[in-house]
Amino acid sequence: MRLSKYYAPTLKEDPADAEVVSHKLMLRAGMIRKLTSGIYTFLPLGLRSLNKAARIVREEMDRAGALEILMPGVQPADLWQETGRWEFYGKELLRFEDRHGRAYCLGPTHEEVVTDLVRNEVRSYRQLPLNLYQVQFKFRDEIRPRFGLMRGREFLMKDAYSFDKDEEGAMASYKGMYDAYCRIFTRLGLNFRAVEADTGSIGGNYSHEFMVLADTGEDTIAACPACEYGANLEKAEAVLPDAKKPPVCQAFEQVATPGQHTVEEVAAFLSVEPRAVVKTLLFDVDGKPVAALVRGDRELNDVKLKNALNAQNVALATPEQVQAWTKAPVGFAGPVGLSVETILADRELSQGTDWVVGANAADAHLKHVDLDRDAKITGYADLRSVTAGDPCPKCGVGLTLTRGIEVGHVFKLGYKYSESMKASFLDEQGKDRLLYMGCYGIGVSRVVAACIEQNHDANGIAFPPALAPYEVAVLCLDPKGEAMGKAEEIYGWLQDQGVDALLDDRDERPGVKFKDVDLMGMPMQIVIGGKGLARGVVEVKDRRTGEKSELPVEGFQEAFTKWREAVQAGWNAR
Ligand code: ATP
Ligand code: MG
Repeated sequence: MRLSKYYAPTLKEDPADAEVVSHKLMLRAGMIRKLTSGIYTFLPLGLRSLNKAARIVREEMDRAGALEILMPGVQPADLWQETGRWEFYGKELLRFEDRHGRAYCLGPTHEEVVTDLVRNEVRSYRQLPLNLYQVQFKFRDEIRPRFGLMRGREFLMKDAYSFDKDEEGAMASYKGMYDAYCRIFTRLGLNFRAVEADTGSIGGNYSHEFMVLADTGEDTIAACPACEYGANLEKAEAVLPDAKKPPVCQAFEQVATPGQHTVEEVAAFLSVEPRAVVKTLLFDVDGKPVAALVRGDRELNDVKLKNALNAQNVALATPEQVQAWTKAPVGFAGPVGLSVETILADRELSQGTDWVVGANAADAHLKHVDLDRDAKITGYADLRSVTAGDPCPKCGVGLTLTRGIEVGHVFKLGYKYSESMKASFLDEQGKDRLLYMGCYGIGVSRVVAACIEQNHDANGIAFPPALAPYEVAVLCLDPKGEAMGKAEEIYGWLQDQGVDALLDDRDERPGVKFKDVDLMGMPMQIVIGGKGLARGVVEVKDRRTGEKSELPVEGFQEAFTKWREAVQAGWNAR
């Protein structure tokens, strides 16, 4: 392609509404443009990167034996009613009616549609296992679309669905997808980690997320520096040390704590450590009040709470609810005498006594509380988020916490969909049995953004060769002079070799050209100018390292091929 005839509207300044670097750079490099909140048009450069990501995904899915199909984006409500998700999916599901008043949604995911397809077609165990996938735009009416392609409302996803005759078969399918994902993210040049994950609203009982490590990631992951263990914060187990509960403390007493609301304030006021205080948090769980207790220096994880209660919806209680349930102003809730049916405590609290808790009265706390003696604890569960240094559940070494971007997700679904939608097959004995399912997603458009989060510098994007819109940029410094002939020759040769190349033949100052290609991130640059040619050389630059070298015009093809291999090797060795 020739830049003189291209459509890549670059911007000099960072756009005001872009917060993360990938969003800024994709707008500045002329890769995408926003249509409306969370919805983007892909311009030629952006579409090329997107297609390259999709191509690698397809190649590895095909290699793993999955078959590509394309399902509709518009889905009828009745399928979602069959699985119950019409009610449970929430506002991310964009619903609408057609002219006949029939209800539909825009597909945020395709379990219902694919299960419907398969239940009508698959009859016998001979047709199994089956893995169907598609690369398709999804729509989710995200509450806070942001960060450009990272959290869009319309985004490109690869979604695959496996159907097996039993759990053993499903584990093999899962493993096949897990391995394919490792190959995909490696080929995409991403620094990633697979972590154990919560199963969320798709449901099911076993899952891993693939996380690209980046400071701007929205998720926190706990990773073990010594072994393979990794889990997102919702899933990472807080290991309970082998400790015996000390003898029960003296009887509790109420103390005045005027104006002391936070754990820190109360602890300082009573001259105890925050870890001697119990935090009582109130939640509305599926319409019922629930109290959850954690140590004062810990963070409660609401997904862990939701899982411990097997609940659908967990929302922090409103100030009005807190006042109604505790009969006290906000900030003084406590478990003693609390008339809330479910009081769940973090299991760490089972190993202590002599706590400070809220008194359910204005400006008052209780000292010397033993939870088992003084409160009606319904149960102890793992409710807190792990912190850096907590022991790894696998090997005991201190965990580290890092930020990650979720680019892929694999789930073992089990019978969740085949049961509610009655998708079955006849086994070897002629018996009717439910299909065992799995589902596997990759956020293809998010992958492009995540790649930029990992690969950029002050001058712009530094794309790995696998995802670059073009692998090589040929810069002709004086397009009206003799350099143009050489540039055309080299550009033509690159195309003959099957190398993606972009020729900057614009009538622009060299400075503008250098800036633009650095911004767009092509990994290899060939700079052709009259001065160099007079000395019999052209300059090449490795975008990632910034390293420049000169290649002879005489024997250029051989020298370039060697240099290109070295640049690629540099990427692979990172
Ligand atoms: P998240 O936790 O980020 O909301 P999710 O768990 O809802 O994602 P899945 O249902 O597992 O997402 O979807 C599969 C993949 O689709 C995710 O791993 C992610 O890469 C991508 N994805 C999900 N939501 C978005 C979005 N709003 N914009 C871009 N990509 C997305
Ligand atoms: Mg997910």
